Amino acid sequence: MKFGTKAIHAGQEPDPSTGAIMTPIFQTSTYWQKSPGDNKGFEYSRGTNPTRKALEDCLAALENAKYGLAFSSGMGATDAVMKLLAPGDEVITGNDLYGGSYRIFTKIFSNYGIKFHFIDMTDSENVQKYVNDQTKLIWIETPTNPTMQIVDIEAVSKIAKQNNILLAVDNTFASPYLQNPIDLGADIVMHSVTKYLGGHSDVVMGALMLNDDELYKRLWFIYNACGATPGPMDSFLVLRGLKTLHLRMKAHCENGRQIAEFLKTHPKVEKFTGMISITLKGADLQETYRIASSFKSLINHPVSMTHGSIPKSERDKVGVVDNLLRLSVGVEDVEDLLEDLKQALS
Ligand SMILES: *Cc1c(COP(=O)(O)O)cnc(C)c1O
Repeated sequence: MKFGTKAIHAGQEPDPSTGAIMTPIFQTSTYWQKSPGDNKGFEYSRGTNPTRKALEDCLAALENAKYGLAFSSGMGATDAVMKLLAPGDEVITGNDLYGGSYRIFTKIFSNYGIKFHFIDMTDSENVQKYVNDQTKLIWIETPTNPTMQIVDIEAVSKIAKQNNILLAVDNTFASPYLQNPIDLGADIVMHSVTKYLGGHSDVVMGALMLNDDELYKRLWFIYNACGATPGPMDSFLVLRGLKTLHLRMKAHCENGRQIAEFLKTHPKVEKFTGMISITLKGADLQETYRIASSFKSLINHPVSMTHGSIPKSERDKVGVVDNLLRLSVGVEDVEDLLEDLKQALS
């Protein structure tokens, strides 16, 4: 099946009891069992729920993976991966991460004896230098949020495999429409489903996709034991959102391209990284706030929002500077988005 067909149909069969073609919202906590253990594979909705299962199978298909696990947020999914580790283990990760990932690594898991190396991963040779006997996980985010740096997943996966290290990739920014890390050698793909996958700004959710049977058992154990699993209503909303993922991604890419063309020559723009982050020429924090507030469409000021938990010295090193703004180029008519940019930057 091709991508768009999978986004619409994967994991979803007509409901056997009614013939409903859309997966029902199984709003139930528990399931009837004829005798203990004699059930249809569902016991208690923290661990298993049919609406969530349909979504997980669809999410797995989109990443060419065997298994999907949905979590109640992207951070919940990241948390589960980190719980594969034990005190003394080391993690190699990028120096330009989503602020919440940096926060959970430094403020939560560092307290449990896990050591993190935040390094420049755009040069995969650099990764090798930090590998030792304690290294158990490499965590890649690519493209990075918000500076759009690119990490070579395939090159890093070779290093991971040679050294028997798990490789997890936060694929939120590319979406499975543009990049499939498992095909490039990753063991686990993580998504903040809240973003492109959900696509309608009405659900917070996370997901892990993977192939290995043993790893799936370990992660499912954590998922059920720790319980950060989403409910059936949210699962239904994401199943619904996914049906337009391929259409939306095409429109995002086309709008992003046209906006990049516009920004390339705009006198107020110092540089724009990748497609959607811009630093403003000569703007201080106040001026940057003013411009950010005058946008009608969604805009992010990483320093005061998503990346506020990263110390300024660290932020400045990787270019998350005070005058950086990140656009979330939507699927509105591009003429309206350009009009908005023109007035905000005037
Ligand atoms: C939003 C985001 C997360 C966190 O996901 P939540 O669903 O907000 O918990 C992780 N990584 C990236 C790249 C993100 O953009």
